[in-house]
Amino acid sequence: MGRVERHLRYFERFDARARILARVELVSETGCWIWMGSVSPAGYGEAGSRFSVRSADRLSYEAFVGPIPDGLELDHLCRVRCCVAPYHLEPVTHAVNVDRGRIARWLPGSGTPGDAGGCVSFGGSRLVLAER
Ligand SMILES: [Zn+2]
Repeated sequence: MGRVERHLRYFERFDARARILARVELVSETGCWIWMGSVSPAGYGEAGSRFSVRSADRLSYEAFVGPIPDGLELDHLCRVRCCVAPYHLEPVTHAVNVDRGRIARWLPGSGTPGDAGGCVSFGGSRLVLAER
C-alpha cells in the first residue's frame, strides 16, 4: 500500500468514527451509545447512504475496533439492539448469538421478544430507550 493510500485509509476510518459519534447519544449509566438514526423494525440501527443500508452496529465495530471475522454476527452484550458502543459488541457465531438471546429473555429486566430489544422508534427517526 502506498503512502497516499495509507493516508486515505486513515482518514476514511477517522471520518467513519466522526459520523457515528455524531449520531449517537451516550447513556452514562450503561455506557450504551444509542443510535439516533433510523432503526429497522426489529430495533437495529441502520446507517444508509444513497447506495446501500448497513447495520450501524457493524459500521461502528469496524470503525472503532476492526474487521468482523467472516461469518460472525455481532452480539449486543448489553442486549440493547440499537446500541452501537463498540465495547458492547462481540463477534460471535449465529448459534451463540441465538443461545444468548434465549438466555437473556429469562433474565429479569430484559426485554420480551418482539419489543425491539429496548429500542423504540419515535417520530420515524429518533429513538427512545424503552423502560427496561
Ligand atoms: Zn450498549
